[in-house]
This record gives sequence, structure tokens and C-alpha cells, in this order.
Amino acid sequence: MSHSYFVANWKMHKTATEAAAYITALEAELAGTDVDLSNRLIIAPPYTAIATVAARGPHASPKIYVAAQNVHHESEGAYTGEISAGMLSELGCRYVIVGHSERRIYCSESDTVINKKASLAAESGLIPILCVGETRRERLDGKTWDVVERQLTAMGKTAMKEALIAYEPVWAIGTGESPLPSEVVEIHVRIQDFCRSTWDTIDQPVLYGGSVTPENVASFLSGSCSRHVNGVLVGSASLSSHLFASIVRLGGKCTSSLQLSTY
Ligand code: PEP
Repeated sequence: MSHSYFVANWKMHKTATEAAAYITALEAELAGTDVDLSNRLIIAPPYTAIATVAARGPHASPKIYVAAQNVHHESEGAYTGEISAGMLSELGCRYVIVGHSERRIYCSESDTVINKKASLAAESGLIPILCVGETRRERLDGKTWDVVERQLTAMGKTAMKEALIAYEPVWAIGTGESPLPSEVVEIHVRIQDFCRSTWDTIDQPVLYGGSVTPENVASFLSGSCSRHVNGVLVGSASLSSHLFASIVRLGGKCTSSLQLSTY
């Protein structure tokens, strides 16, 4: 099977009503275009809009899958305000983002907790989308791979055997800055080598995230990137159905020949 992944991370934006309007608008934007139906569109709404998107997603064209933006690391218990993997699965989620830098930074989530979340999610039938990436200071200190390798090393095979990985340099998130495509390829190749040698996974999808827009999406998915960048994770630009549809259309043109295995 071949897919390219286009993930929209809405963060703490959009009510359920706004989410429904967005899906209607996204479908209208993509209708009648030559968008590749094998591409996988994944929307990560806030918890309160998951059911709305999940109800609409299977009927959209291309089909929309739902990701949660977070999950608790225990399956149930006295954790006021938390949401479990089983609850998300029952609501219609297929994916869950773990290890996003905003949660690593603002919620002090450690590599150990992130592995627990992803493992439990995988055991509950969800596919983790693991975010990894270095801060600006770490990049300036030449520690990009050390950081990514540490974040990957913390993850076990249960968590990772079906996971997607999103390389998201922290300094590129929401800043309008991004690495050169050649820098993205270099890290993605190292991530793919790491996955093969550590978890024995073949063709594990590795996405790029950080200030992706309709203007730059092709640079991350074409040319030397096309073999190593299997999709994009989009924050700010995904809040507009028009911009996200443009990213899906323009990015999809670059990647329609990608061959991935079981994901
Ligand atoms: C993100 O938060 O994962 C992200 C990629 O955001 P942005 O596209 O706004 O940089």
C-alpha cells in the first residue's frame, strides 16, 4: 500500500461546531481536484471535537482519520481530568500524537512517560505518532542527532512497531523558520536506520513538521526528500481548511509514487 501522510494538529483551537464546519469546507476544497485518494489525511482536533470529526471522517473523500493530541499513560484509575487510550479508541480515534514538544516543555513529559503512553496506546489499537526534535540551543550546539537518538532510544518495540515518527525541530514550530530539505533528509535517513536496527521495522513512515505551508510543502516532499519524507505534520496552517487543502493537493502531487509497506 502507498500513502503519504498529511496530519493537521489543531492544538487548542476549534469547538465541535467549528470542527464540523471545517470538515465541510475541507471536503469542498478537495472535491473535484486530482488529489490522490490513497493519501492519508489525519486530523488531530481537541478532545471535545473528536467525536464530531470521527463521525464525518469516514464519509469524506479522501477519508479522514482522527488522531488525539494526547493520551494518559495508564489505562484507567484516579487521574482526574485525564483521558485513556480505550476511551479514544471507542470515540473513533485511529492515531494519537505523543511526545509533541509543547507537551514535553509545558507539561514536563519525560521520555519514559512518552514511551508508556505510546505503548499503552498501541496495545489499545491506536497508532502512535511520535514527535521528536531538537531545540534551537541543541541545534546550535551540534546536538541535533544526540537529542533525536535519545528520544528514540527511550521508546520500546511495543510502542514503535506500527508508529509514525514526526521529526519536528522545536525551533521550527510556529516560527516560520525551517531546516533545509537536505538537513531534513539527513535526519530522516538516520531515523530510518535507527528504526531498522533497533525495532526491526521496515519503511517506518517519517514525517516532517515545523512551519509547513502551501509555499514550502513541495520542498519537503519532492526531489531528494521524496524517498525519505513520508508526509507532513502541520500546525498553524492546518487551522485554515483552505491552506490545509492546498498543502494536501500540492504535497500529494510530489509523493503519489511513494511505496510504503504495511502502514
Ligand atoms: C506542530 O505544532 O506540530 C507544528 C508543526 O506547528 P506549525 O506547523 O505551526 O509549525
